[in-house]
Amino acid sequence: RAKDGGRGEMRIFEPRMDEKIERERELASEMKGALERGEFHLAVQPIFDLAGERITAGEVLLRWTNRRYGPVSPAEFIPIAEDNGLIVAIGGWVIREACRVGRDWGDVTIAVNLSPIQLRSAELPSVILGALASSGLCPERLELEVTETVLLNDIEASLTALDAINRLKVRTTLDDFGTGYSSLSYLTRFPFQTLKIDRSFVTDLERNPASVAIVQTIIDLAQKLGMRTTVEGVETQAQLDQLRRTRCDSVQGFLLGHPLPVDQFGALFRERSLRPA
Ligand code: C2E
Ligand code: MG
Ligand code: MG
Ligand code: MG
Repeated sequence: RAKDGGRGEMRIFEPRMDEKIERERELASEMKGALERGEFHLAVQPIFDLAGERITAGEVLLRWTNRRYGPVSPAEFIPIAEDNGLIVAIGGWVIREACRVGRDWGDVTIAVNLSPIQLRSAELPSVILGALASSGLCPERLELEVTETVLLNDIEASLTALDAINRLKVRTTLDDFGTGYSSLSYLTRFPFQTLKIDRSFVTDLERNPASVAIVQTIIDLAQKLGMRTTVEGVETQAQLDQLRRTRCDSVQGFLLGHPLPVDQFGALFRERSLRPA
């Protein structure tokens, strides 16, 4: 197999790698002028209380539509922006824009994702302060989401950065919990107010009864430590029914609501809050 496959496979493989590297290079270069050209915009996904009645928060998700490549997924462009350092400028824009558009939504938390590079950049506190000041958003309504894999690399720097954020009265969320190098000790070591349990557990809920027990244990521990819990990636009613038994605080996922254009999210939130309970 190796004998007849060897060279042929290489010939198929090489152009693909080239294409991927070439695309990355092109995207990195396109990204340089993208903020100025206004190619970024925000989408907001509603986060609901467990009953599915009240919107408690909106997660801000960055969208990029490039003049040449069209829509590019954050899963593809965020790593590139982290590599070339543009994530600091782009992420700063996201924080400012999120505060600006979210200011008038009412009593809803605005959750913004933070790259590890942003978390450790010295300018982060002043970026946050500036965004709060120019928008007039109260700090308690802003919540910054950090992925756990980040924290391990440099525990001291992560702790210092998280403390600095919390001192501004801005809350922090541990995102994607349960992926990568998860450890329950994170929950006691880092000062997060919210724990967001990764979609992978939810995918498993219907098939594997053990994952119900795992999710329940994580939620119980988080709550004992005074953290709120959100479960992300809820796609089916059966998953939601299972989760209702766990008594997590909030749920997020395509079943309850997809990421929406900023205006539509604002309208949805207003409509929901006006409706009598
Ligand atoms: P995340 O922070 O975990 O965000 C949730 C992702 O899951 C979003 O993908 C959302 O559209 C998707 N999602 C929500 N509900 C469901 C569901 O029920 N099923 C499935 N299959 N997916 C669901 P998106 O928008 O493509 O973002 C992917 C990741 O990119 C985010 O994961 C986050 O890590 C990163 N990202 C997005 N915006 C930003 C940003 O402004 N800054 C930084 N640093 N990272 C960002
Ligand atoms: Mg997130
Ligand atoms: Mg997540
Ligand atoms: Mg994720």
